Order: sequence, then C-alpha cells, then structure tokens
Amino acid sequence: MSGKFLLLNKEVPSFMTPEKFEDHIEEFAKTARDFLDKEVHPVAEEIQSDEAKMILNPKLMAKAGELGLLMIEVPEEYEGMGMDLSTGLRVAEQMDEGSFGTTYMAHTGIGTLPIVFFGTEEQKKKYLPKISSGEWISAYGLTETGFGSDALGAKTKAVLNEAGTHYILNGSKQFITNAGFADLFIVYAKVDGEKFTAFLVEKTFPGISTSKEENKMGIHGSSTRAVILEDCEVPVENVMGEIGQGHKSALGILDIGRLKLGIAGVAGTKRAIKLSVEYAINRKQFKTPIAQFGMMRNKFAEMASKLFMFESAMYRTSGMIDEDLAKVDPKDPDFKKKVGKVFKDYDVETAMMKVMGSELGSFSVDQGVQIHGGYGFTEEYEIARMYRDARINRIFEGTNEINRLLIPVQILTHTMKGKLDLMGSLNQILKELKEDSVDKSYDSEKPLDREMRVVELTKKLVIYTVGTYVKKFMNKLADKTFTFTEGEYYYEPISNLVMEAYQMESGVVRAKEILEANIKNKLTKEYVELATFEGFSRVRSIASQLIATLSVDEKEHSRNMAGLWKLTMDYPVNTAALKEKIAEVIIEQGKYVI
Ligand SMILES: Cc1cc2nc3c(=O)[nH]c(=O)nc-3n(C[C@H](O)[C@H](O)[C@H](O)COP(=O)(O)OP(=O)(O)OC[C@H]3O[C@@H](n4cnc5c(N)ncnc54)[C@H](O)[C@@H]3O)c2cc1C
Repeated sequence: MSGKFLLLNKEVPSFMTPEKFEDHIEEFAKTARDFLDKEVHPVAEEIQSDEAKMILNPKLMAKAGELGLLMIEVPEEYEGMGMDLSTGLRVAEQMDEGSFGTTYMAHTGIGTLPIVFFGTEEQKKKYLPKISSGEWISAYGLTETGFGSDALGAKTKAVLNEAGTHYILNGSKQFITNAGFADLFIVYAKVDGEKFTAFLVEKTFPGISTSKEENKMGIHGSSTRAVILEDCEVPVENVMGEIGQGHKSALGILDIGRLKLGIAGVAGTKRAIKLSVEYAINRKQFKTPIAQFGMMRNKFAEMASKLFMFESAMYRTSGMIDEDLAKVDPKDPDFKKKVGKVFKDYDVETAMMKVMGSELGSFSVDQGVQIHGGYGFTEEYEIARMYRDARINRIFEGTNEINRLLIPVQILTHTMKGKLDLMGSLNQILKELKEDSVDKSYDSEKPLDREMRVVELTKKLVIYTVGTYVKKFMNKLADKTFTFTEGEYYYEPISNLVMEAYQMESGVVRAKEILEANIKNKLTKEYVELATFEGFSRVRSIASQLIATLSVDEKEHSRNMAGLWKLTMDYPVNTAALKEKIAEVIIEQGKYVI
C-alpha cells in the first residue's frame, strides 16, 4: 500500500540496498561502466549534433545490445535475462551521459516494459527479442500538443476499418524520445474517440511519420520529435492490452518510468562529484587549490550526503516492487491485473523517487558549475552540458508538480477510504501529546540510535501536520464534496514532508545495517548524521509554515504549535566537522564513496 511507510509502530523490514547486490550483478554493472567510459563519453560531444545523433545512437544501442544491457528486465523466454528492476537500476546508474542516457532509458523503460507487462504472448515473441538485442529501438508516445500533464485527455483517434483487420489512427504525438531512429512506437489513441487504448506501431506501417528534431535546451544528442499519424494502418493484433484499458499500461508504466528516471539523479550526482573534485584539486586561486576552501568542501559534503540518503530510498523502493512482482506468476491469467496492482501499490513511492532524484540531480550539477567557476559556464567543460541536460528530468515522466500532487492525494485517498490507517497513528500522537509522553530518549553510545529517534519524530511531525490539514477539511472530506483541488496550495509542502520522512528513514536504516554488519565504509555515519540533522530542520520549518497557514486564529495556532514543539527535539551536532570529514575522504578518493 502506497504511503504505508508513514505509519507508526511498524518495524521497517530489511530492504534492498546497494550493498546487497551479488558479485555477478556488480560485474555486470561494471560492464556498463566500461561501456560508458570507453564508448559513450568519448563521443559525448560529437553526438550533440542532429546529424551525428542519428548515426551514433543506433550504433551505441546496438553495442549496448551486444553487451546484454538492453535485455536485463526482459524475461528469458523472449531472449532476455529475466532480471529484476533493482538490477536494471544498478546498470542504469552507470548511464551518466545525459543524451545517450535518455535514449537508453526511454528504450529499456517506457519503450520495453509495457510490452513485457501488458503485451500478448505473440507481441512479446515478435518484438521483445528485437528490442532486447538492440536490433530495433523503441519509443513511447503518450503526450500530445494539447495534452501533456493531462495525458489521458489525448485526441488521437483510432477507428476499426470495415474489414475489421486494421485500426486507422489519426492524430499526432508530441515530444517523443527516440522518434528519429525508432523502429517501434507504443502509441496511445482513443478507439472511436472514446476508449483509450495502446497500439504497437512499426515505423514501416503506412501513415506514420515524424517531424523534424526539436531544438532543445539540453540532451541535444537524444532524438525528440513529433510522431504524426495520418490514416496510419495498425493491424488489430497490434492492440496492446484491452480496448479502453490503455490507461492501465500508460499509467502503470509511468510509475516504473518515474522510478527509473530517479536513478538519473544518482548517476548525475556521482559524475558531478567526480568531475568537480578533479577540477577543484587542479584549480588554484590565492596560490591554493580551491578544493581546500571550506565553501567548496561544503558542496562536496552536501552532494555526497544527500546522495547517500537518496540512493537508500531508491533501492528500498525498487526492492519492494521486485519482491511483489516476484509473487506474480507470468502464467496467471490475471497477470496484467496483478502487475498493475503492484505498480499502483507503490505509486506514491515511485512519484517520490522521480521528484527527489531529479531535484538531487539538478542540485548537484548546479553545485558542480559553481565549483568550476566561470569555466563551468563555458562549453569547454562537461559540467555545463550536464547542467543543461539535467533540467528536463524535472519535466518529463509527469512534471514534478504532477508528481507532488499525486503523493498527498494518494495518501489522503487511502486514508479516507480506511485503507491506510494514518488516523490510528494520528490518534496515538495526540494521546502522547495529551499525556506529555512523547519519547525523545536515545542511547548516545549506540551508533545512530539518536537518528532513529529523529526518524520517528519526523514521521510523527508529518502525520501531525497532515492531520491538521485533514481536520481543516474534515467536513468536506467526509461528505465527499471535496475535490482535492481545494487543498492544492498545501500539497507541495505536504509532499515535501512525506519525501523527507521516507528518505530519512531509508538512509538511517541502511546505515545502521552497514554499521551493524561491519561492512567496510568510511563515511556512512557522517552522511547520516549530517543529512538527518539537516532534514529534520527542514521538516520543522515546513511543518510550522503549514500549521501557520492552516490555523484559523491565534488561539488555534498556539495550540497547534505547542503540539509541534513537543514533537521536535534539539541536539548538538557539529555539522562543520561532519562536512570536513566527508569532504576530506571524497577529495582524497576523487569520487563518491560510502
Ligand atoms: C525532451 C522531452 C522528451 C520527452 N519524451 C517524451 C516521450 O518519450 N513520450 C511522451 O509521451 N512524452 C514525452 N515528453 C513529454 C513530457 O512528458 C511532457 O512535456 C510533460 O508531461 C509535461 O507536459 P506539457 O509539456 O504539455 O506541460 P503542461 O502539462 O502544459 O504543464 C505546464 C506547467 O503546468 C503545470 N501543471 C499542469 N497541470 C497541473 C496541475 N494539475 N497542478 C499543478 N501544476 C500543473 C506543469 O507542472 C508545468 O509546470 C517529452 C518532453 C520533452 C521536453
């Protein structure tokens, strides 16, 4: 159930972390790393032109196919490797070149997985081997000029021909990644203008064409075009899923696409750290390498500690989805329905990964440019391109606003339907507040025991604040006249609170496991102490702003704030010393390490 992690009194079950990948997976990820370093980065500048990208992308994809990098999540019976989402992410984490990374992610994610999960047996047999070998490149066409965020409003129309053999598609799809060299397009259209349906359209079908390349701000080396359908003839056997049920694959795959997009934040941050350390060591000002200046070191510490927390949340999420997907038998007649339910069950978490990953990536490339000074603003250094390339991640796969809407709306919907017992947790908090029994104790001798307590208080603060929101709108929520749009101003801060809680808990629990298992590490404790302290400060600030907005008068505000303060805790942390330790190790190693 999405949002379940917020509930109190639930042991956090051990979850997937980067440390738990088996050696053969790490070897495989290294193959991807070598491929990027030897084949992709050397042509990263050249691929930026419209001419070169049309040649280089298919060439690189064919090579990736040879190395097995396109078949990871494709089942073995269709010539894939049948591995899980987490493995796919570990490999995708190596795709740290924005343009090729976009081509790769669109193909292996939204261009492949709809067929894996929602295709017929014949469609899987026909298309998956070609896609997973790199012989064919795929694209996913949902957006239209008038329908971006409101994608299900699509106007593209499909009508069955008189012979009943083909659907005739008319309309156009906007901003389609890989369109310039794709062989297969997953296209959404409304049968008879009403029933939203997915179609598999080959580039050789009569009536499909693409526009010229978009002139974009970044990812210049990826292809983005409109796909035009003019009486395009699609055989009936190329309907994917049921007529009128296209929203299931469209939205379900977007959930997974969002998770996969989040990993770009990990990839980008690792590369931004690496390039910026290299630069900062060599660049001298005041006869001193700039890497020695505190404000530069602060940037490395911030990037790395945020990355530790985010990658913890990322693999926790993919691991949970993998566990549930593994329980669905592909031979089950209800396979598609059950898979759809798994995706739905994690829609809050995948939305959070998209928002957090894209914002972490943007933050890191921005820090990277700053570390490079004026040279970071020139195309001489890769960080300038990375800065431009990272910007799109906050827009596609559902803008961050749309994802920030989804997080509270889903949590509130589940709560109001009684599926998520947030009210039970809220009542417990209110009881503790009344009895003045909020536990803030911790054992300072036990590593991260204090941080575990902070995680608990953070969750309580989040539930308390959401509770204040629910109270304000309670009557409307109860008589169902509430449309959710009424509360929109509150959604952004609420989603920020929920994301902070999830990320903080994921980072602290992972770090505790690393320390308890004596896994070799240099910075785990420092990352978590720093990030938890900073995260908790943000949570307190957001919660008090929300409560100020939600309280009707001073009396109510004082009452609400009294509760908020009882749920917070002050403790001393030498953040400067933590940052110094982190920066020292990162600069010495030349990269992010745990
Ligand atoms: C380079 C690139 C590649 C892309 N690749 C693909 C692809 O492969 N396949 C595909 O189908 N699409 C693709 N897209 C499309 C992309 O997913 C859309 O651009 C995106 O979903 C936003 O739609 P829009 O551009 O129409 O913006 P709009 O929906 O018009 O949004 C404009 C602004 O309004 C905000 N907004 C909209 N609705 C709300 C709301 N209810 N509440 C609050 N704010 C709101 C948005 O967040 C945004 O800030 C791509 C786009 C680009 C630029």
